[in-house]
Amino acid sequence: MPIKQACVIGAGVMGAGIAAQIANAGVPVLLLDIVPKDGTDRSAIAKGAIEKLLKADPAPLMSKAAAKLITPGNIEDDLDQLGDVDWVVEAIIERIDLKQGLYHKLEGKRKKGSVLSSNTSTIPLAKLVEGMPETVQADFCITHFFNPPRYMRLLEIVGGVKTRPEVLKDISDFGDRMLGKTIVRAKDTPGFVGNRIGVFWMQAAVTAALDLGLTVEEADAIMGRPIGAPKTGLFGLLDLVGLDLMPHVDKSMASLLAPDDAYMKLRRPWPLLEKMIADGYTGRKGKGGFYRLNTAGGGKVKESINLITGDYSPSDRARLDSADAAKGGLRTLVEHKDKGGQYAWKVLSALLSYAASLVPEIADDVVAVDQGMKTGYNWKRGPFEMIDQMGAAWFAEKLAAEKLPVPPFLATAAKAGSFYRVEDGATQHLKPDGSYTKLVRPDGVLLLSDIKLSSKPIIKNGSASLWDIGDGVACLEFHSKMNALDPDSLALVKQSVDHVGKKMKALVIHNEAENFSVGANIGLALFAANIAMWPMIDDMIGTGQSAYKAVKFAPFPVVGAPSGMALGGGCEVLLHCAAIQAHAETYMGLVEVGVGLIPGWGGCKEMLLRYQPGPRDPRGPMPPVAQAFEAISLAKVAKSAAEAKELRFLRKDDAITMNRDRLLFDAKQKALALLAAGYQPPTPQELRLPGPTGRTALQLAVEGFAQQGKAMPHDVTVSDALAEVLSGGKTDITDIVTEDQISKLEKKAFMTLLHTGPTLARMEHMLTTGKPLRN
Ligand code: NAD
Repeated sequence: MPIKQACVIGAGVMGAGIAAQIANAGVPVLLLDIVPKDGTDRSAIAKGAIEKLLKADPAPLMSKAAAKLITPGNIEDDLDQLGDVDWVVEAIIERIDLKQGLYHKLEGKRKKGSVLSSNTSTIPLAKLVEGMPETVQADFCITHFFNPPRYMRLLEIVGGVKTRPEVLKDISDFGDRMLGKTIVRAKDTPGFVGNRIGVFWMQAAVTAALDLGLTVEEADAIMGRPIGAPKTGLFGLLDLVGLDLMPHVDKSMASLLAPDDAYMKLRRPWPLLEKMIADGYTGRKGKGGFYRLNTAGGGKVKESINLITGDYSPSDRARLDSADAAKGGLRTLVEHKDKGGQYAWKVLSALLSYAASLVPEIADDVVAVDQGMKTGYNWKRGPFEMIDQMGAAWFAEKLAAEKLPVPPFLATAAKAGSFYRVEDGATQHLKPDGSYTKLVRPDGVLLLSDIKLSSKPIIKNGSASLWDIGDGVACLEFHSKMNALDPDSLALVKQSVDHVGKKMKALVIHNEAENFSVGANIGLALFAANIAMWPMIDDMIGTGQSAYKAVKFAPFPVVGAPSGMALGGGCEVLLHCAAIQAHAETYMGLVEVGVGLIPGWGGCKEMLLRYQPGPRDPRGPMPPVAQAFEAISLAKVAKSAAEAKELRFLRKDDAITMNRDRLLFDAKQKALALLAAGYQPPTPQELRLPGPTGRTALQLAVEGFAQQGKAMPHDVTVSDALAEVLSGGKTDITDIVTEDQISKLEKKAFMTLLHTGPTLARMEHMLTTGKPLRN
């Protein structure tokens, strides 16, 4: 049964977040909680939760409008509404008696055959449904989301012995396509996949840090990026999630695991942690944690705790050669002789062997485990990918040499060579029986990384490549550092349009990096400006404008498929595409004013066009100019694809894909659909713009802001340059301004600003600090 309406019960941290993500998918959702003991509003808890959703940062909602899809209620008055609900998610406190009491209460109210799931982290499914009516058992599963549900991609799904297969299929489909989650089918074992391995990792990393006498900085310097974990490392992560969670999770894992489980041997009392929690040092939410900000005497000193004495002192950067050596790979790291290298080996040897001992107990295959750790703990590589990077045989031999146990599955991998291999251009993974099986992607998933295994690029340079993704469609991939656009990227845009025009049918612009593109390479522009290579910069603007113009007027459809940041020049290329298929987590914006510039590759022109009034719109020429001015001069960045629509970086009929893995496929289908509908490129438009009077009006407004202290002196200069472009230069309402004329104005204004000291200072500051300079 397709899920058209949902209900979340329990409007706490997780329940509210899950309801928000369901609303982000455009699906109406009821959010219920208990009736509060005091007060007159019986649905106050759920209502309060929605209010909090609207204020939280990072935002759980992709747009304010999505909140309207969440209807608050309570479990006493509103269960009758469940007759229309296809999926009920329980996310109440972690108590089996309360959960079971609720399931009983729902029987007779729930729509027949609807899915009932629990978000429990620790209670086994078998226990949850024990003694429950057959109907509950047949419709029941665990849907385990990670916090925060919008941003964490993992959704673990666990079925019970009596769960109907359709239940798991429906919920997996919905979780994948509508909620954008990576689905991992986990077995009904403690901690499922993510927390079973993640909690072991944390425990192993703490114990080893204490045993080896590392400082918190040293431990974090290794347990972060060097091993492929988020840069918070271990202690920074504990501060972030809350120290009080640790003993709680540890106790519940210990109560569920078999006595001979490796975790049981690892855990031990940690008096310092207990004392910290008792003293209110629960992490960032409390007085501080392993790190704290000491503001005594009006100062701001970052301090860290001494793991032996429990005293704080100013935090000192770790100096470990091994942390740098990790750039050479995990093996270089764990072989390093310093204490960082020893630490990495101690943790990884235990962690990776543990993971290898858990397949197929916790999940059917290594892919599920690796996916779980990558999407639930944000690791760059899963445990089996880590072993492969070191070499399975090498790892097994080193374990044996140190008289550490070698799990049978690892021994099998050591013999076979690796957990993953590529055969005939396709990835295969090892099964515990020693055979390899092909990694099959679900229908509707197309990954550039898979295409790369089986083909070579059609054209390539240092910053971009063009790939054949089948059915006559090509994919242009940016791959420079942070996908900052440089002359090579622009050259490939132009060459791609030429190539597809001659030999193929359509083009998609997409890549699998974290960010689609952070914009033009300002380091390059600054370097050129500092040595007065003006013709080179002038040429780079001209080349960008003509490359993007070629995208816009290509005789075939060009579909942009961004995910992550698409800023500045990265946003501008998208504005020129025939259509966009955006990942829901796309952050678009024209942020050039932050570095003292204005969009120079057609961004001003395209935004002006987007805000143009329709034929019967009675408004004069000024409102569209003012709207474009506002978006660009305030460097507005949409915090989701939904918001990008509101800001018109995306058009109404541009489409959104919730699951990143489905983005390229959807974009390709969009290109093919445009072709099938007889695609025709747009005709260049002619605008009527207000000219100097419009510029003056905008200028006055900005000067007003400056007088109130809301704009800096250079903001006034930059805004004026922008106002001149958007108002059409020396035109007036009776004249016609062409797209090319606006491009010329953009280029002139860009070059003028680049000749100013404050713009160069802004660029320099951005490059060195990553933050805008207010001057
Ligand atoms: P929470 O304490 O923030 O929220 C629980 C909510 O449930 C509260 O609003 C409470 O009023 C409500 N509630 C309690 N009894 C109820 C009842 N009988 N009927 C309706 N509502 C009731 O808890 P949380 O952190 O959101 O956790 C909820 C569930 O999600 C738990 O099972 C937990 O194990 C699981 N979980 C939590 C996290 C996490 O990081 N917090 C992650 C994954 C899973």
